[in-house]
Amino acid sequence: MKVRVRFAPSPTGGLHLGGVRTVLYNYLFARAHGGDFVLRIEDTDQSRYVPGAEQYIIDCLEWCGLSPDESPVKGGPHVPYRQSERKALYHQYAQQLIAQGNAYYAFDTPEDLEQMRLQYRKDEHTPAQYDHNTRMKMRNSLSLPAHEVKALLDSGTPYVVRIQMPENVTVHLNDLICGEMTFESGLSDDKVLLKADGMPTYHLAVVVDDYLMGITHAFRGQEWLPSAPVHVLLWQYLGWAQNMPRWAHLPLILKPDGNGKLSKRDGDRLGFPVFAMNWTDPKTNELTTGFREIGFIPQAFVNMLAMLGWNDGTGQELFSMDELISKFSIERVHKGGAKFDFEKAKWFNHQYIQHTDATTLAAMAKPFVEKELGHAADEHMLAAVVPVIKDRCTLLTDFWAQGHFFFRTPELVEKAAITDKWNDQKQQFFTVWSAALATLATWTEAGIEASFNEAVAQHGIKKGDVMLPFRIMLVGGKYGPGVFAIAALIGKDETIKRIGAIIG
Ligand code: GLU
Repeated sequence: MKVRVRFAPSPTGGLHLGGVRTVLYNYLFARAHGGDFVLRIEDTDQSRYVPGAEQYIIDCLEWCGLSPDESPVKGGPHVPYRQSERKALYHQYAQQLIAQGNAYYAFDTPEDLEQMRLQYRKDEHTPAQYDHNTRMKMRNSLSLPAHEVKALLDSGTPYVVRIQMPENVTVHLNDLICGEMTFESGLSDDKVLLKADGMPTYHLAVVVDDYLMGITHAFRGQEWLPSAPVHVLLWQYLGWAQNMPRWAHLPLILKPDGNGKLSKRDGDRLGFPVFAMNWTDPKTNELTTGFREIGFIPQAFVNMLAMLGWNDGTGQELFSMDELISKFSIERVHKGGAKFDFEKAKWFNHQYIQHTDATTLAAMAKPFVEKELGHAADEHMLAAVVPVIKDRCTLLTDFWAQGHFFFRTPELVEKAAITDKWNDQKQQFFTVWSAALATLATWTEAGIEASFNEAVAQHGIKKGDVMLPFRIMLVGGKYGPGVFAIAALIGKDETIKRIGAIIG
């Protein structure tokens, strides 16, 4: 049997890193088993639909290098891959469930439901749910006489279809990560399967589509565990138990302090991204920053995510995609939640920056440099600069922060550190030395340094007294790689010009 897995997001907003990790585990599993990876858009809840979110998800997968084999864009043998376009398909299964006595029509209005929740609540904090305790007190095809039900249906009264959860059944689920689990059916409410607008809910659609699309393994976050018994029962009621996928409920990604699920708000509060890429909410225009835009390399982002809940047992942390494919196993995914650590995430990126070849790295850094520069960056300069400063760079945005002075004359932010201790001797030194630089035959790091040392000896000045001013002249501040390497790269004219800005 060919392995088929799916990522089934609802297009409701930005893609959380937990979602990308689900994609990754699906992708690795599919590649390792020569299987297919399907992207299915679960957009049946029209009230939560957000325009642009589907395209955003597709773009995120592409940026991460985790493109699906079948999708709404790519097509495939099970088109359409958007549930809203499959609307007509679900009705027959709802009808089958009603005919078998596993589901029923419910005609309750929102007011009826609200009243039930209050009237039958257990205590102040626990509203009642629509279940075996309350269903016979409501307006549905179980509680009303058959002729009344028929009359309601004939007159076009709006209805939903609900699953009839059995009162006393122990539902078993053998999860690939969580192991053998049992659920008491009576604790679940009678979930809506088909809504008044004729759309299925997630619960019906996910089961029907996993079946029709031949899904063999279903990986999703542990937040879906409470729905699992409903889904298992639907697989049985629809007569498909033999085909039910193996489930793997993935551990949650937790806040850095381990106290609950990591949310977008935690990221805002603690100053790190939670979404893969920038997301602008079309309703509020609010922009949420992504890992891509703050300068993560996609391979580093993916490697970091792989380790959030899994390891190969050897202590290895850096894995190429091919290694991940060969070493990843769903059984080794931890049951417990994985704490997100932004410093560790940055460590991965720093490692990737150090290990990426200069040409690839220059191409990755280019858009970040050019965004700040406001125009195209000199390709030769970029290629020369990247290896010189990469050990100082953790994020791709750092190539600007650590290297802007290679591309344009810097603002002298720390000018005071020069001028406060300026004296005639220094004025004399730089005047004579810059004239000497103008006559240097070959412009190399070693040549500039030799000329500097010679001038220092000539003037009987301490090297340290003129080295720092020279750095600030070139860089604008007290940082950067070797100062003679900087001078060599920016060139003779520019070096003399920057000295001139101080000596006048
Ligand atoms: N549509 C669900 C979501 O938005 C998918 C859950 C599943 O994979 O079954 O997360």
